[in-house]
Amino acid sequence: MLVDVHAHLDFKEFEEDLDKVIENAEKAGVSHIITSGVNHEANKKALEIAKKYKIVHASLGLYPLDILDLAKEELNKAIEFIEKNKNKFIAIGEVGLDFVSREREKEQKENFLGIIDLVEKLKKPILVHSRKAEKECIEMLESSRIKKVILHCFSGGMKLVKQAEDNGWNFSVPTNIIYSNHFQTLVERVSINSLLTETDAPFLSPIKGERNEPKNVAVSVKKISEIKKLNESETQKVILNNFQKIFQ
Ligand SMILES: [Zn+2]
Repeated sequence: MLVDVHAHLDFKEFEEDLDKVIENAEKAGVSHIITSGVNHEANKKALEIAKKYKIVHASLGLYPLDILDLAKEELNKAIEFIEKNKNKFIAIGEVGLDFVSREREKEQKENFLGIIDLVEKLKKPILVHSRKAEKECIEMLESSRIKKVILHCFSGGMKLVKQAEDNGWNFSVPTNIIYSNHFQTLVERVSINSLLTETDAPFLSPIKGERNEPKNVAVSVKKISEIKKLNESETQKVILNNFQKIFQ
């Protein structure tokens, strides 16, 4: 009954043993994995992977820093590909803003606005990357008509967390929650009905320095159940239910 709403199974870290990684996930009880594309090439691979494995769904996206240097035609081509394949994926992501290096913020916002238009048109849930741009992402999404928002690995302060929760949006809790006070506090404050789980595999491993994989999503569920004082199977049930509400 476990769900991993955000992983990157197309990354080279999984090139050698993806069959095994999926098998590990199935054995651990994972029933849904969303593999997220970050650019045109990755989107093509995400569709292939989703087609190959029953438990994997694709989300197609354009990572904010990946599209900064694209020529207009390239960007349009990537967007057209997404539109053309709209029946083969379940969400748009990974998309958003990344202001870590305060890089070309205005351009990033213009690109994100274009993506928001696309999401409104395709009526899909959106999986948002908002590193160091949490407030800006929230503002832009609030000005849109998008209702189904998943904030992936959301690192904004608790005021923004509350604001997003009040909007009816969801947070996907990464496996690094086991050593992250921020995510522990987030889980404490937010209703379990707004929570999902993710690995961001191969990143954000619960064991520092190791490759992350979808089976580890069990770690997030365990920690959430401790914080919420529920047993693990109840926690799994609620999170699966949250998943189904968004994606069905
Ligand atoms: Zn990611």
